[in-house]
Amino acid sequence: MPASQDTTRSKGRAPDPRNSDIRALLIRTGNQCAHPGCSHPLVNERNQFIAQICHIEAAAPGGPRYNPSMSDEARRASSNLLVLCYRHHVESNDTGQYTVEVLRDIKRAHEAQFAATPFTPDASVVESIAREVAEYWRNVDHANSSEHIVPEIRIEIDADATAQSLIRSLWAELDRLDLELDELARSADRLPQEVRDALVKAGYELGTWDGLIGPENPTHNWNWEWINLGIGTLRSRIRVLLEQLDVRVLELELLTDPSNERVRERLAERRAAFLDGARRCVMVD
Ligand SMILES: [Zn+2]
Repeated sequence: MPASQDTTRSKGRAPDPRNSDIRALLIRTGNQCAHPGCSHPLVNERNQFIAQICHIEAAAPGGPRYNPSMSDEARRASSNLLVLCYRHHVESNDTGQYTVEVLRDIKRAHEAQFAATPFTPDASVVESIAREVAEYWRNVDHANSSEHIVPEIRIEIDADATAQSLIRSLWAELDRLDLELDELARSADRLPQEVRDALVKAGYELGTWDGLIGPENPTHNWNWEWINLGIGTLRSRIRVLLEQLDVRVLELELLTDPSNERVRERLAERRAAFLDGARRCVMVD
């Protein structure tokens, strides 16, 4: 879970559960899915959370069992949360079968079963990884801002940038590259006229020059293959890789924060677009 989640919220949605509530919730699970008879683990032997946090009464309007009169604090509290494996989380969206009362009973029975044997996820592992990550980015920030060998022309590195914002920045840079490439293509189109104007200015008689046709005149279709095929294909490849990276990063984010509906929605949208693109992507677009 990201440390900043206390402040994480999207429009109309209750804030994400606090780390402390999630820990309190996990302690009473016996590291098992809460669904009766299911023993699917919640945290695997590599300390990865592989289950999902389910809201008994949904975090946002339109979600299962949403209760408009409930406060956001009550929505995010551990009393409103249940840990289920992926399969049982999906099945619990059937609100006809899984009513608020049924889910509360499931939670009560499950927690009672493990009251005497608390499950403690290994926090030390998580904390040491978090420390190591923070230290590395502090070093990068320092190297970029204070130790740079040519400070005047340094490219600024935002050490706090998330994977998502880096992907957005890459798209923006790619769009800028497209504009530069268009300008390059336009200047190649202008080249024959500009060379001709210069020859006129220099006093040349252009009869012979104008007689040069097609490939005989090197200013015609100047760098055409490079501009239209070489760079165009490179640009298309970069776009496909960026789209794929976007999907991969969202998958990883969902694994570490399975209750984040915003990430889930964006992943569904990006996956559909990439699947569609996989049928149609070509060398030059
Ligand atoms: Zn299960």
